[in-house]
Amino acid sequence: MPLLLAYMALTAVGGVVPDIDIERAAARVQDKVVEVRRDLHRHPELGNREHRTGKLVRDRLKALGLEVRHPIARTGVIGILRGGEPGPVVALRADIDALPIDETRDVPYRSGTPGAMHACGHDAHTAVLLGAAEVLTSLKDRLPGTVVFLFQPAEEGPPEGETGGAPLVLEEGALDDPKPSAIFALHVSPLLEAGRIGWCEGPILASSDHFVIEVKGRKTHGAYPHTGLDPVPVAAELVSALQALVARELDAQAPKVLTVGSIHGGNRFNIIADAVTLEGTLRALDPAVRRELRERMERTIRGIAAAHGTTAELRFVGPGHPPTLNDPTLALTIVPALERALGRGQVVRVRPEMGAEDFADYAARIPGLYVRLGVRNEARGITAMVHTPEFDLDESALVIGVRTLATMAWQALTVQ
Ligand SMILES: [Zn+2]
Ligand SMILES: [Zn+2]
Repeated sequence: MPLLLAYMALTAVGGVVPDIDIERAAARVQDKVVEVRRDLHRHPELGNREHRTGKLVRDRLKALGLEVRHPIARTGVIGILRGGEPGPVVALRADIDALPIDETRDVPYRSGTPGAMHACGHDAHTAVLLGAAEVLTSLKDRLPGTVVFLFQPAEEGPPEGETGGAPLVLEEGALDDPKPSAIFALHVSPLLEAGRIGWCEGPILASSDHFVIEVKGRKTHGAYPHTGLDPVPVAAELVSALQALVARELDAQAPKVLTVGSIHGGNRFNIIADAVTLEGTLRALDPAVRRELRERMERTIRGIAAAHGTTAELRFVGPGHPPTLNDPTLALTIVPALERALGRGQVVRVRPEMGAEDFADYAARIPGLYVRLGVRNEARGITAMVHTPEFDLDESALVIGVRTLATMAWQALTVQ
């Protein structure tokens, strides 16, 4: 069959992702995606305060003619694209918030807001998802189903005392109508070469729980500890005991991390403190290990405090997030499409990481697939980790991100 005919046969029938059309449409929006990313990078906004970002997203989605819903979880936006062919509903999600970091890299698009920076690449996620919305809109006559574009605030966590992020999106029922049968997201990775896509089935990111331990003692003169109750040695013992718990009480083959990130107590060198507060984070790849750790922490903390006649209380801040679990069946249907579209060598299996994501909350309810988008470029010195003031990304990867999201959505609509 002549090439053109073969191509027409492939694209005319529902059930095949129009790789070539997606690639061409993505190439057409490439410059715009870079421009939007730089615009967002110059104007970073922290969680639940993404007003300018939300407006930019709304304006762009409206210009594409999509149905736009706002506000979603305070400052977020949803765009809905209904394809010309009947079919299921899938969702693509980007996070839109920045971090409280001062940028140190001297680039033309450097953050113009002191104390805020897109140090986790959410500017790129937003720009890439807008690009994917434009690509899929340009092909909507043939699109077999509906795509929900979710621009979510506060992935890094809402400000103290506020709710936000994925849990609030779900609580508001923002994904109930239309209800997606699959959800996808990508995240930039400075550990992966620019343009590569990393994936794995099962857990790809860990659960995340923020804990606070309050050890209560009784103040007295530092030279007469027996007349009070010293919480400092108890706190010190707790730090070691919690590491022993992780290392000795649970299967060594189950990945987990317990980090005590801060200890505060006392106000003078010669006064016994009346309380010490320890704060930290707990991570696990397996929901059962997460549960087990939370329970055993409680027992260890109470036991050690009691052994010294003090009391200690453990509390978790918010509900935390489960591990991000990639649905194995979904991965099996989507990854071959990505390999076909991007080239086999570009799509690589990666190991799970102990970082966390609130995308996990969606994936706990809807079959989900979360992939990494490589943005590393050693030759250009782009190697810094996310959440650092030097972080940057190789923008040549953005168009690959656009193709990845568009391909995942189309493939999911096709096979479901
Ligand atoms: Zn982050
Ligand atoms: Zn992030």
